[in-house]
Amino acid sequence: MIFFKKKKVLEIKIYGDPVLNKQTKRIENIDDSIIALADTMITTMKEADGVGLAAPQIGESISLIILGIPYNSENMAQRTPGEILLLPQMPLVLVNPELTPTTNVTSTAEEGCLSVPEIYAKVVRPEKVMLSAEQLDGNKINIECGGFLARALQHECDHLNGILFPEILEEEELDKIKPMLKKIKKKR
Ligand SMILES: [Zn+2]
Repeated sequence: MIFFKKKKVLEIKIYGDPVLNKQTKRIENIDDSIIALADTMITTMKEADGVGLAAPQIGESISLIILGIPYNSENMAQRTPGEILLLPQMPLVLVNPELTPTTNVTSTAEEGCLSVPEIYAKVVRPEKVMLSAEQLDGNKINIECGGFLARALQHECDHLNGILFPEILEEEELDKIKPMLKKIKKKR
């Protein structure tokens, strides 16, 4: 006989919830509760089929993000140092991540968000960013990231600053999704 211990999954906060628009606090001490929370966030992200999750999305206003970006090892030589280092580490937990764009070149791609269900829009972002962050073992990272990793990092770090992707869209893109956003708010 096999007993399945069901892993804990957290409720994902939805667009309109005030916690999603709050500036988060830095984590001063990576203790067992942070490690346990990160683990539960990974389970929650996987269960929801997401590629990233930030702590405010599960109601915790702290500077913690999870990434679960699928990748293949092709063309790794052309990738940024950040992609080479971090993609093989997925699912990745980052504490107190901070980003600085390292280029004026932008790229545009469709994004979605577990907190803004079933809505997608084109978001313009810098192509490369310098990431500084801590890992759960206290290891400090300072590395340039490009590609989808740079986009995902910017999306998740926006969450830590209380920003959701509909709030940084160009007007034309926002107009397209406005009716759907209203529906989500009504449902709440
Ligand atoms: Zn999101």
